[in-house]
Amino acid sequence: MQLKDRVAIVTGAASGIGRAIAEAFHREGARVAIADLAGDRAAEVAAALDPSGATAMAVPMDVTDEAAVDSGTAAVIERLGGLDILVSNAGIQIVAPLVDFTLADWRRMLAIHLDGAFLTTRAAMRHMQASGRGGAILYMGSVHSKTASKLKAPYVTAKHGLLGLARTVAKEGAAHGIRANVICPGFVLTPLVEKQIPEQAKEFGISEEEVVKTIMLKETVDGEFTTLADVAEAAVFLAGFGSAALTGQSLIVSHGWHME
Ligand code: NAD
Repeated sequence: MQLKDRVAIVTGAASGIGRAIAEAFHREGARVAIADLAGDRAAEVAAALDPSGATAMAVPMDVTDEAAVDSGTAAVIERLGGLDILVSNAGIQIVAPLVDFTLADWRRMLAIHLDGAFLTTRAAMRHMQASGRGGAILYMGSVHSKTASKLKAPYVTAKHGLLGLARTVAKEGAAHGIRANVICPGFVLTPLVEKQIPEQAKEFGISEEEVVKTIMLKETVDGEFTTLADVAEAAVFLAGFGSAALTGQSLIVSHGWHME
């Protein structure tokens, strides 16, 4: 039980990576809030974890909405008795050549990935500082926090930006016992990636099998997708780490796709 009695908010936790992290935190003894735009799915995930609602709750939240983030965070603190861990994970993907990207799609991408990270961090840090208990903040970066791929201009830009935010939070949070780190997964088979396979096949004029083999997994050491369990385990480790030796860091979890 590495996270016994901690309280965590995980954004985007109604699906994919966020859900796997929330489930892993719960197994490790944490009380968890499933924060997601999809309130119905968030409620299902929370109910599956704990039908009584004592150790898991759903928070319908658009992470780009300042008022929704502040009130949702306050509701979690009130109901679950504090806040020790934030996982800023909610995200979407839109792929297109840069010359075809609309300003509206560019803004939507940066709003979800960067405004969302800022707003949830601010709400969490205010509480963590005031409580005197400190805390851990994790950002869901990507291998695209470290390198670029074609068709992903706003995603790559936003994921690189999270490194800067985490490093700043590490510095400002240190005096209050707050650590901040970034997890950088390779491709994980979630709805976000499943949607991209046919889209990339169309853009590049190749088959879906070729997208997986020659684009997504080509540089991995074993030809394997990163799994939900791989990412969740890294999140438990970073969230539970006991000192500021690990802060302002980024951990690449990608089956060797990217090494540094
Ligand atoms: P997913 O589509 O399975 O889940 C994303 C969740 O975020 C959904 O439940 C969705 O409702 C929620 N969401 C979207 N917009 C939101 C908003 N404005 N407010 C609140 N919730 C919102 O995707 P996933 O693959 O699990 O991705 C989660 C994170 O992991 C994203 O930040 C993504 O960029 C990152 N990531 C994914 C991969 C991958 O290969 N799947 C790799 C690296 C990083």
